[in-house]
Amino acid sequence: MEFRQSTKLTGVCYEIRGPVVEQANALEAAGHSILRLNIGNPAPFGFAAPDAVVADLIARLPQAHGYTDARGISSARQALAKHYADRGIQGLDERSVYLGNGVSELAGMAIQALVDTGDEVLIPSPDYPLWTAVTRFAGGVPVHYRCDEAAGWQPDLDDIAAKITSRTKAIVVINPNNPTGAVYSPDVLRQIAELARRHELMVFSDEIYERIVYDGAKHHHFAALAPDLVCLTFGGLSKSHRIAGFRAGWLIVSGPRAAAASYLEGLTMLAGMRLCPNALAQHVIEAALTDDTIDDLVRPGGRLETQRTTAWQTLNELPGVSCVKPLGGLYAFPRIDPEVHRIKDDERFVLDLLLREKIHIVQGTGFNWPDPDHVRIVTLPEAGDLEVAIRRIGRFLDSYEQ
Ligand code: PLP
Repeated sequence: MEFRQSTKLTGVCYEIRGPVVEQANALEAAGHSILRLNIGNPAPFGFAAPDAVVADLIARLPQAHGYTDARGISSARQALAKHYADRGIQGLDERSVYLGNGVSELAGMAIQALVDTGDEVLIPSPDYPLWTAVTRFAGGVPVHYRCDEAAGWQPDLDDIAAKITSRTKAIVVINPNNPTGAVYSPDVLRQIAELARRHELMVFSDEIYERIVYDGAKHHHFAALAPDLVCLTFGGLSKSHRIAGFRAGWLIVSGPRAAAASYLEGLTMLAGMRLCPNALAQHVIEAALTDDTIDDLVRPGGRLETQRTTAWQTLNELPGVSCVKPLGGLYAFPRIDPEVHRIKDDERFVLDLLLREKIHIVQGTGFNWPDPDHVRIVTLPEAGDLEVAIRRIGRFLDSYEQ
C-alpha cells in the first residue's frame, strides 16, 4: 500500500523549514549544539515577551476557553481598526479586521479566497517564500518581480509593469522586507499603487516588520497611501512582541468594500471553516498594541540595532561577500560573489555548512531568488555570537569547493 501526496503540492515548497531542518534536528539529537540562524524566532535568543503582554495573558486566561467569532473577538478587532485608522488607513471598522493564527494562516486564506487555477500573483524576488507557496497551493501562478540589489533591494517597477498580464489578480508587497531588510519609500509605494490601480489588482501588503526599522527609516502603510485600492494589510505580534509561538496575527481590509464584497464573503467563509484563531492570543492583542518595548530594541544602540549593524559590518569584511545594509526586519541577505566562491548549489552549501560548522542558515534560492549566490542569516543572536558565527562562515567559505 502507498499513500502519495496530492498533486496540489507539486512545486509547493517552504525551504525555511525544509529538508536541511531535518538534518539540523538529527545533529541536535546526536548531541551537537546547532546555531539556528535559519528562522526569525526571537524567543530562543533571549528576547522576552513584554511583561504587560504576559500579565494580560494570565489575567484573561479564564475568559478564553471557548471558540470565538470566526473573524476574532470584537474588542481586539475594534482596537486594531482604531490603531490603523490613527495611522492613516481610512474607512476601517471591526468588519475590516480578521484575526488569524499568525500571518501565515491569513496569507493562505487571503490567497485561496481570490485565486483561481492559472491566475497570476506578482510576488517579489527574493520573497518570504510563504507567498509563493500559498499561491501555488491555491492553483495560482506566482510571477516573481525583481528587487534590485544595486538599488538597496527596491522593487524594480519596470519589471513589475512588464510582468502584468490579463491573468494577474494581485500583487504582494513585503515592507519592511524579509529577506532583504529593505524599507520602501512612499514614492515607490505610490508607483506600485499606480500599477495596481491601472490594472485593477488587489494588493497584499505584508507589514509584519512594520515596527522593526533602523537608522531612522520610516515605515509607510501601503493602504494609507492608496485608499482607493482594495488592500489587505498583514501584521502580527510574532516579531515586534517576540511571541511567535502565540500565533497572533491579523489582516486589515481597506478600500472600496463594495468592490470586494464577494471576495470578503469567501474570506469570511474560510475564516469560519477554521472555527476561530487561538482565543488566548486574540485576547492579548489589545494590550500589545500599546506596548512599545520594541522601540528600545531598534533604537541606535538597542539590541536588535546593534546586532543588525554587527552582522552587516562583519559580512562586508569577508572576502567575496557583500551585504546591503538592512534597514528593517531581522535578517541579512548577503551576496556571495560567484567569481570568488564558486557555489553552484546553494542548498548543498548550507547543508555542508551545517554538517561542518553546525550553523544553520537558509540558501537564497529558498527565497525564490534565481541564482545560487545569496544566503539569509538571522540577526537575532547577541552581537558577539553573531560576529563569531559570521567569521566561521567566512572561514568555511574560503576553503569551500563544489
Ligand atoms: N510574513 C513575513 C514577511 C515573515 O517574515 C513571517 C515570519 O517569518 C510571516 C509573515 C509569518 O509570521 P507569523 O505567521 O508568525 O505571523
